[in-house]
Amino acid sequence: MSFATEPDRWFHGKITRENAAHLVTTGPDGRREGLFLVRESLRMPGSFVLTMWARNQVHHFQVVGHGDGWYSVDNGPLFQGLDELVNHYKCRPDGLPSQLHDFVVGSHPPLSARKRLETEIHRAVTNRDIGLLQRLLSQPSSNQIGSVNSQNAEGSTPVHEAAKKGFVDTLDILLHYKPDLNIRDSKGSTALQLAARNGHADSIRVLVEKGGADVQERNATTGWVALHEAAFRGHLNCVKTLLQINAPLRPRTPDEDTPRELAARYKQREVVEVLEWASQNYPKPRTKTTEWLHKEPDRARAVQLLQKKGKGDGSFLIRPNSRRPGYYALTLMYNSQPYHYEVVCEGDLWYFIDDGPLFDSLPAVVDHYMMFVDGLPTLLKYPVPPPGIRLSSGHSKPPSQSQGQILFANTRLPPSLPPKPIGMPPSHRPIPPIPIPMEPGAVPMLPAPDEVGPGKPPNMRNYEMVAIKKECLTLGAELGQGEFGSVLRGKYRPAGGKMIDVAVKTLRVDAMGTGEQEFMREAKIMITLNHPCIVKLIGVTMGKPMMMVQELVSHGALVDYLYDGKYPKPNIITLKLWAAEIASGMMYLEKKRFVHRDLAARNILVSSDTVVKISDFGLSRAVGANSNYYKASQGGRWPVKWYAPESINYGTFSHASDIWSYGVTLWEMFSYGEPPYGEMTGAEVLDMIENQGFRLEKPPSCPNSIYKLMLSCWSLEPTQRLSFVELHQAFQDNPEHRDISSHRDLYQNPGDL
Ligand code: ADP
Repeated sequence: MSFATEPDRWFHGKITRENAAHLVTTGPDGRREGLFLVRESLRMPGSFVLTMWARNQVHHFQVVGHGDGWYSVDNGPLFQGLDELVNHYKCRPDGLPSQLHDFVVGSHPPLSARKRLETEIHRAVTNRDIGLLQRLLSQPSSNQIGSVNSQNAEGSTPVHEAAKKGFVDTLDILLHYKPDLNIRDSKGSTALQLAARNGHADSIRVLVEKGGADVQERNATTGWVALHEAAFRGHLNCVKTLLQINAPLRPRTPDEDTPRELAARYKQREVVEVLEWASQNYPKPRTKTTEWLHKEPDRARAVQLLQKKGKGDGSFLIRPNSRRPGYYALTLMYNSQPYHYEVVCEGDLWYFIDDGPLFDSLPAVVDHYMMFVDGLPTLLKYPVPPPGIRLSSGHSKPPSQSQGQILFANTRLPPSLPPKPIGMPPSHRPIPPIPIPMEPGAVPMLPAPDEVGPGKPPNMRNYEMVAIKKECLTLGAELGQGEFGSVLRGKYRPAGGKMIDVAVKTLRVDAMGTGEQEFMREAKIMITLNHPCIVKLIGVTMGKPMMMVQELVSHGALVDYLYDGKYPKPNIITLKLWAAEIASGMMYLEKKRFVHRDLAARNILVSSDTVVKISDFGLSRAVGANSNYYKASQGGRWPVKWYAPESINYGTFSHASDIWSYGVTLWEMFSYGEPPYGEMTGAEVLDMIENQGFRLEKPPSCPNSIYKLMLSCWSLEPTQRLSFVELHQAFQDNPEHRDISSHRDLYQNPGDL
């Protein structure tokens, strides 16, 4: 099979009109008849602009997006994908001043804007060819052969295909590459809905637990959620699994049907029984009215109170509804704006917001929206009690969707389920009091003393974010796919400075809301870091959409470097040097009081065979000076196989939990990029580790002494794990690692501490 470069690299992302005109008029090919490029429209998200040189001048034509992958030049004929459109105008002008000819080289058009094609990855999934799938996905240029997000003519991604067939093993691999689980096929279904429709309970579990799929996502055509699909078709195991992972019992279809009503109508008797059992045994809400219920109905006063006493995004309270007696109103802060929602109370029986699920009490409503966004702009995070009531730090903040499944699954099991599903902690395990978590959006600010307990996070006020003008930046080919968009190679010339090669993390149009906040949070952490084994942030672009400009680490992700055979296999000495460098970077991070929370070979970048750098600070958080851990308020897409048991069970992250991940990273390195725990699910791994004392096996070419270090990173008791200082010491001082010392000054530079 050939992965030769495709010729369609005429795409230039979000460059300005002036920049585009400059590109088609300068350079050796400038001003050639038919020279063109395509760029994203800055004014109309989702649309594009064709810039071309013809008849002695620059022309710009709007390429209008009609949805579902269809495009046209102004009101011209429709084409599936930008590539089809370009190919058409390469053959004939059809209204343009000339036909398209050569192009200014940029990158490939984004997958979402390309003709929908069955890719090699689709075929590997449908044939359940695990080996081929892994090889295809680890190709650094997988953009050319498709990606986990590419859609075929039916709009199905490889994840849809795997979910439809219930291939948990292939799903598990695909999820490793963080696919977008909100993509819908042409019938409006997400992968989770297909798993539920086709009766694949294990696929549902892995999609939610590993991939962070949202059980409340609706089918775009029918408005059904996964539980409707499973109940309607009588898939009992799927119904049970969905309930175990905290899916609400009574979501409503646009026709107001709950899953129980659908099951009853279509004579799915067993499903009806389970849903009725669950209705009576549903766990009590973990939140109390004293925490958020006010007597005062006044809207302005509620907003004032949230602004004064709240903790920003996600601060909320519930008050009587002044216009409709018996009803309530939810007031919620998001982006410094108050949002008000009516909470309907129907005959004292059902409580609900808008077209959301039905609940039997007000606390149950609050509980649900503390776990699921489900149409609100953000989760309910910080209850603001009525004046005079002070919340203790142990107030009942429920865990997120993925924490909830672990902490509370046992209470949700209908009697016919096995008593303890795999990966669930024993029911007698005490649930630790959950302190008020640190305000997730507050990274740059010093929080008020009562927000983080006794300690203070590091002071990040001294670091100025460098704003980069987009004109100083030229974007090139894609280096990889990030969670929120692609990472592109680029060139940056600071005003009056020298041109340097950079990596530019971009944000997809559809990821702009939350993506932008996550992006900014990552940038604010990265700008404070200065160490030779940590990727440097150069700055962020001004205006929207934001782009993050980082130093270019030319050989890409370590896991690909080790696995895909493009580079010579590094020997053990080199691996040890890298292990020491990673430990050195982590020591620095520890001194700066950050936990990384996503240390894995995919997030180590290779600069040369003597230098690797830690990257991807998207999940990183500051820890308090005395508390030594960060408590996550949201689950999201957690890399569970890299996580210490205490992080999965209680959501606590510390330097010791980073050390667990460091151990898994070492294992990946010494097994040359194998995925840890193969095809096991996250829940199975946790069960094996905690209850059966299982650990990853020694990779064949790994020296015993190094395997021992790995095992010490995986002590159940966090204090028993070696520290980064000790690990660094072990890799650099051992006489058999003499070679490392010659590179010492490279990574021992203490950075800016
Ligand atoms: P995300 O955090 O959104 O998942 P990553 O930071 O992991 O995104 O980047 C995705 C991919 O882009 C990486 O696996 C790597 O191949 C490439 N990449 C990211 N940053 C750089 C960089 N600074 N230099 C070179 N390649 C990079």
